[in-house]
Formats: sequence, C-alpha cells, structure tokens
Amino acid sequence: PPFLELRDVSKTYYLTKSHTVQAVDSVSFCIGQGEFVTLIGPSGCGKSTTLRMIAGFLKPTQGDILLEGKSITSLGPEQRNIPMVFQNYALFPHLNVFENIAYGLKARKYSEDAIVHDVAMMCQMLNLVGMETRFPDELSDGQQQRVSLARALVIKPKILLFDEPLSNLDARLRIQTRAEIKRMQQILKITVLYVTHDQQEALSIPDRVVVMHKGKIIQQGRPREIYNNP
Ligand code: ADP
Ligand code: ADP
Repeated sequence: PPFLELRDVSKTYYLTKSHTVQAVDSVSFCIGQGEFVTLIGPSGCGKSTTLRMIAGFLKPTQGDILLEGKSITSLGPEQRNIPMVFQNYALFPHLNVFENIAYGLKARKYSEDAIVHDVAMMCQMLNLVGMETRFPDELSDGQQQRVSLARALVIKPKILLFDEPLSNLDARLRIQTRAEIKRMQQILKITVLYVTHDQQEALSIPDRVVVMHKGKIIQQGRPREIYNNP
C-alpha cells in the first residue's frame, strides 16, 4: 500500500444551518515513503484543512485517511505521530528551547536520559547548541523556526506536515530555512507534505506537486510536468 493515502476526503464546515463551506471536496492522493510533496493553491482552496485532517486536528466529513494501509481517520492527533510545523512557530512561550523540544518526548514518557540525548542531537543538527536555556521571545525568527522544526523531528514522526513554514521569514532566511528543511528530510529520510501558496517554493523543493483549487485537486505530478502545464 502507499505510505499515506487520502481516499475521497471531504470537509464541510457548518457555519449556520443554511450556510456551509465545502472546504475540501473529494480529495484523493498518495504519498510514498520518504517522498517530499508540496501542496499548492491559492488562499482558501483547502490546503490547511487538508493538513489538519491528516494531522488529526479535524475529522473529515467524508472519506478515509490511511497510513501504511491502515485507516487512521478515527485516531486522535497524539496517536498518529504526524506533527505539523506552523508559520507562527507555535512554540510554548513559557518553556525554554530545551523544554520546547523535549515536550513531545515527555508526553511520550521517554526516560530523562533519552530526552537529554535526543534533544542534544536535535540541537546539534539544527544549530541550536548554546541556546537551550533561552526562551522563544529571546530568539530570532530563524531560530524560532529551527526550534519548531526540532520539536517536530525529535519524536521521529512518520510524516512531517508544514503549513507555510516560511511566510514569516525574510528572503534570506526563507532560502536558508528551505535548504535546512530539505537537508533534514534527506538525512532523516522523512516523508514530508508541505503546504505553500508560493509557486516558486512549491516547484523548487519537492519530488512531487499536488495542485488544489476550490477544494479539489486539479493537477499532480513532478515539478517539471507542472512547469510545462501551468
Ligand atoms: P487554505 O489553507 O488553502 O488557505 P483553508 O483550508 O484554510 O484554505 O480554507 C478553505 C475554506 O474553508 C476557506 O473558504 C475558509 O474560509 C474555510 N474555512 C477554513 N477553516 C474554517 C473554519 N474553521 N470554519 C469555517 N470555515 C473555514
Ligand atoms: P490559513 O489559510 O493559513 O489556515 P486563515 O487566516 O485562513 O489561515 O485561518 C486562520 C484560522 O481561522 C484557522 O484556524 C481557520 O480554520 C479559521 N478560519 C478560516 N476561515 C474561517 C471561516 N470562514 N470561519 C471560521 N474560521 C475560519
């Protein structure tokens, strides 16, 4: 079976009895193990909703989500091990860098030794050594983004989801962080689904691109194929 599969997944938001929004409309696609896929489309086309359903923060109105052939649709986020990295980092402001990165390991009842070891490894890999006792408001944007990446990676996720991770960064940091994410993905052989509305970003990093429009998938393929048929 494919590593991750969405089968006819839909999401309707019920605002009032008479007003509904069909945010995602019968979406199906697969992601292979170790693949880097970008999900692209204009604002409001349903990208975030799709990611949140995969992470388990939202339940599909219809359809099924499968991981390695098994349905995860009824599992909560903590049972899926599919973390999401957000554009606003979503770090815990009252926790320092070490505690932010350690959070998921504590929740999973790792031993103190294992936590110290795994957090140190992440700090080394993401150039955060020496910053362990700093708090998020003492960090630059790029540092905060690296902490949020470390926090997601440290739990050895099955798949890592990114929701426009670069939108708060300046041009130089975007390029740097983008390269960082790609490097991590290749070192750790991790599977990535990466949402962006930036076409250049979407076509430059992935193995494959999925294009959404008004809740539906209108195109998918290798970046070159998308380039040639925009
Ligand atoms: P994107 O990430 O591509 O910008 P979203 O998934 O955020 O798209 O939104 C898709 C559609 O669903 C939009 O019309 C948006 O306004 C609507 N929407 C998103 N979240 C909610 C919500 N919690 N309640 C109601 N409507 C929502
Ligand atoms: P994004 O498109 O990056 O998800 P938005 O600014 O569209 O960001 O949405 C921010 C938050 O508001 C999200 O939690 C989203 O689910 C929610 N949201 C978006 N559109 C609506 C809507 N029409 N009604 C209620 N909540 C919404």
